[in-house]
Amino acid sequence: MLVPPGAVVGLEAGETVRAESYGRKAADLARLAALGLPVPQGVALSFECVASLAAGGPMPELPAGLVRDGLLALRPSPEERAWGGPSAMLNLGACARTLALLTERVGVVAALRFHIRGISRFAQMVHGVEPEEVEALIRKHLRAGTEPDEAALRALLADVEALYDDAVGEPWPEDPGEQLEAAARAMALAWRAPTARILRQAKGAPGNAGLGFVVQRLALSLAPGVSGCGLLQLVSGRSGGPEIAGGFTLRSQGKEASTRTYPLTGQGAVETPGQMPLPPLDELAPAAVERLAAAAAQATTEFRDAHLVEFALEAGEPMVIDSVPVRRNGRAAVRIAVDLANAGVIGREEALLRIEPRSLLEHLHPQIDPAAPRDVFGTGLAASPGAATGRLVLSSETAMTAAAQGEPTILARVETGPEDIRGMHAAMGVLTLRGGMTSHAAVIARGIGVPCVVGAGDLRIDLRARTLTSPDGRAYHEGALLTLDGTRGEILAGAPAMIAPELGGAFSELLDWADAVRDLGVRANADTPAEARMARDFRVDGIGLCRTEHMFFDPERLTVMREMILAESEEGRKAALDRLLPMQRADFVELFEIMRGLPVVIRLLDPPLHEFLPQESEDLHALALAMDLPVEQVTARARALREVNPMLGMRGVRLGLVMPEIYEMQARAIFEAAVAVNRDAREPVVPEVMIPLVSANQEVVLAKARIDAVAAAVQAEEDVDLAFRLGVMVETPRAALRAGDLALSAAFLSFGTNDLTQMTYGLSRDDAGRFMREYVNRGVFTEDPFHTLDLEGVGELMLIAAKRGRTKNPGLVLGLCGEHGGDPSSVRFCKVAGFDYVSCSPFRVPIARLAAAQASL
Ligand code: PEP
Ligand code: MG
Repeated sequence: MLVPPGAVVGLEAGETVRAESYGRKAADLARLAALGLPVPQGVALSFECVASLAAGGPMPELPAGLVRDGLLALRPSPEERAWGGPSAMLNLGACARTLALLTERVGVVAALRFHIRGISRFAQMVHGVEPEEVEALIRKHLRAGTEPDEAALRALLADVEALYDDAVGEPWPEDPGEQLEAAARAMALAWRAPTARILRQAKGAPGNAGLGFVVQRLALSLAPGVSGCGLLQLVSGRSGGPEIAGGFTLRSQGKEASTRTYPLTGQGAVETPGQMPLPPLDELAPAAVERLAAAAAQATTEFRDAHLVEFALEAGEPMVIDSVPVRRNGRAAVRIAVDLANAGVIGREEALLRIEPRSLLEHLHPQIDPAAPRDVFGTGLAASPGAATGRLVLSSETAMTAAAQGEPTILARVETGPEDIRGMHAAMGVLTLRGGMTSHAAVIARGIGVPCVVGAGDLRIDLRARTLTSPDGRAYHEGALLTLDGTRGEILAGAPAMIAPELGGAFSELLDWADAVRDLGVRANADTPAEARMARDFRVDGIGLCRTEHMFFDPERLTVMREMILAESEEGRKAALDRLLPMQRADFVELFEIMRGLPVVIRLLDPPLHEFLPQESEDLHALALAMDLPVEQVTARARALREVNPMLGMRGVRLGLVMPEIYEMQARAIFEAAVAVNRDAREPVVPEVMIPLVSANQEVVLAKARIDAVAAAVQAEEDVDLAFRLGVMVETPRAALRAGDLALSAAFLSFGTNDLTQMTYGLSRDDAGRFMREYVNRGVFTEDPFHTLDLEGVGELMLIAAKRGRTKNPGLVLGLCGEHGGDPSSVRFCKVAGFDYVSCSPFRVPIARLAAAQASL
């Protein structure tokens, strides 16, 4: 077998050392060398050469000076760093001649240490000698924490050589070339091992991924004086802000757990109790730190990303061993990308593309400090991100009482319903044992930005004992201090350290750039003035969904709402609705004022009426008493309203047609509010009225006739011109298929993908949580379709609807207002499908803004 052409190339060859042939590390080192950085002299061996070594081919000739004049390092260099590879081999070439040479340069103690390490590491890596055997010899001869002397080291060397001889069956090979070849062959074979291949394929490597080598002169970091190894970076991996960070270990080779780390600067010093602080490296070797900081800056510009330098010092003289991207969390990634763009190192578009939209959540909510210990006792679905700590409460009333006293709580319920909304507002975090990603708890929590975990089915709530019990039997009583991690879907005992949210600076600058490039609108789902203000702060293009039912859960309104529901006649209903009208009008006036100049979509009442009545018979009794009605009448009405399958029952437009006075009241409230707000000369409000849960065109025709009549009446009464737009929610497969008809009466169609997913799959959004994790884990579904839009099924229905709708009505506006509006892949889909906007919970607006920008680039 011959040595393949181009097998060896010097690192000084610059761009010739390509990653596709010699590996990423080799290519990067060659670029660093070309920048004039102090990279130890060396060569790169090609993929072909390493493959041939593994197959028994010959070792190529290396430059004579490199092998003869000192110890060497042999490092793996795969095409992508993330693909891993065998560990590097240091101190190759240990022989009598190098021992003498090194003794001259760094003294006998350091020379012996290099030599011993060379033999023992080789024995372990090439011949499989157990590390424990070598460690036993070290323990026998050297005392931890003290500098070894020559005699002890010589005795150790003799024992290590004997161990080698014993284990391998022949003496230590004195020939450096022979050592290098054996090491290279062992590493080449390790790369081909099946487990190594499976591991790297899991990281995206192709089956035939190549491995190259770097053979370099070894940095003499065990030498006397300020010698050792370290890392230096110019930005913080936690904040992304400028800061010299890293560390240095004296007289070490790479990471050595037993050695204390010196800070690089005075700022980086960490106090260790009971130990004298170590002086910072910039006091011990100021010129080296300055040189390395300049090297990190050069590498950052060269590689167009924040890079750290891995360095060695040889008696104060710096050498650059490698340079890799700085490890960073989501927040630091944003700051780094924005700073790089502002420094002109990358363009703004590239900065936008570098950020994973979902990682922006790290800016919006408190997070558990990644360094903090975690005592996790339960898991569920990560329904609403962020973390919160508080006392465990098992009822919404307790959460509200605690909030009134300023006590933070975590509200745990089997599941939540409309009656829990105020408790959810009062709690810092919400946990439910049942429910999926679009269950009541999940939707409300995301809307109000409260961390939430749902479907934690392994936990038990005992309302008598007032406890929450973990699968391993730990019982937490009401009042216990717990932490909820809604980003990971975990429930933890105690109060781990937190990192506060951060919305200014780089975060808002990046989103400004996103707004400049995106052409897909991003609106918010907001039901209350507080949410609308939050949405404005997140700089939305409007409100895409105001679920009006949430306005009726305030205690005062709930009473009137219940009067309306319990009324026996149309007159009775009308009387109650007349009392609700001014309240609704005031809501809309406030909403329109907050959203001045931006569109606001108001959805008419959607849920079935029984949701507004209590369920338990005691509560029904209390209600009858409060309303001064016979108990039998109240219970009979509640029974009459109960449905076997309320999600498919009398809700949405069906309710609006059967009890038309409800929608008439709401339409009047909307139009009167618009007229009131439009009295001043500022930008007029053009309300958008939306009809939910449509399945037949005739539903729209009938509802529209009534809404138009109310509009005409208000115009006549107020003597004004009133513009409004009527929209239809596409939430049933039939509505999607018949979108052509619907588009004739509607100015816009808004896809309610929560219901559309539920109805397309025939999958209850409230119950799917029970088995969704199992389904996804087993690969039945690739993702939870309530979380990531099912492009193949639901997506196809949406495409059909969009096409049919726009064919009949070319000016038709298309939007999406289900929870998917905050999911990056769904946002991309909407952009590609030619939609006008997506609408999502206020806290997911930044994600949607960035995802929409990325979809435009
Ligand atoms: C939907 O179904 O997607 C929707 C937005 O309406 P809701 O979640 O209120 O049912
Ligand atoms: Mg819906």
